Amino acid sequence: MEYILETNNLEKRYKKFKVISNLNMHIPKGAIYGLIGKNGAGKTTLIRVLCGLQKPTGGNYSIYGISNESKEIIKTRKRIGAIIEVPSLCYDMSAIDNLKEYAKIIGNPSLDNLGEILNLVGLEGTGKKHVKNFSLGMKQRLGIAITLVGNPDFLILDEPINGLDPEGIIEIRELILRLNKENGITFLISSHYLDELSKIATCYGFIDQSRIVKEISKKELEESLRKRITINVSNIKECVKYLEENKVKYEVISNEVIDIYQKINISDMIIALSKRDCIVNEYQEKGESLENYYLNLIGGAENV
Ligand code: ADP
Repeated sequence: MEYILETNNLEKRYKKFKVISNLNMHIPKGAIYGLIGKNGAGKTTLIRVLCGLQKPTGGNYSIYGISNESKEIIKTRKRIGAIIEVPSLCYDMSAIDNLKEYAKIIGNPSLDNLGEILNLVGLEGTGKKHVKNFSLGMKQRLGIAITLVGNPDFLILDEPINGLDPEGIIEIRELILRLNKENGITFLISSHYLDELSKIATCYGFIDQSRIVKEISKKELEESLRKRITINVSNIKECVKYLEENKVKYEVISNEVIDIYQKINISDMIIALSKRDCIVNEYQEKGESLENYYLNLIGGAENV
């Protein structure tokens, strides 16, 4: 597999305190990589190191196969756009003037595609309106537009939906998906909004106690999420007897409700139970959430 970014036993220490250590992560080309971890797990520190804002104290990493120890890394970093914590915007300027200003800062001589970038993020109609009058979602989209000025193919977004209202969250989600699908941009997104992240991520890295404890693709995750069938029955005793006889894994939830944790032929079970004077009033197939998976992985809610 081709990786845009790989780390090898990466470490960042402040005095004796290791914020990240033995950290190994792999971001495939074209992925939307969701970096998940509780507050203080080291996400921002990791991102700052990867963006070259801080030096690792151990291990190394490569971007597009270029090691951080090579001189070439400075040029390679130009292929990355990043927003760390909050986007830096000039509030008394229009959206287009913000882009022009940034283009000047990074020494980008061509201003031709700036209108196109505003189109991409859906801010083309904002004209002379100053950024201070933008909604939070618009400001965040402008932040992403600024990262696009250097024409990067890898974007790193640290908590991109923090503080956004539901409408703003949807705008950012759609923008990320569009840039990924239509422009082939790879993303590294850190977030503690697991539900939201699960709507866009194609793979995940779970960070806990300074390390990546698990990397998993969306497909693998979906396969490993424990599925269950919840049934509501008229005669719980008979139902339990039937499940025991057929060696089915189950859990009694209440006097009427049972959760079944394995694949079964539900029609056969309904017929068999009806012969035992037990009616299945309702059944529903449910999947475990990303949040549950994460909590199991890091050892329970008390650790969040
Ligand atoms: P996250 O982004 O996952 O919330 P951070 O990377 O911001 O985590 O912080 C991880 C840990 O590193 C925290 O305990 C934080 O206090 C510590 N930390 C971050 N920056 C510094 C620093 N400059 N000096 C000392 N400790 C730091």
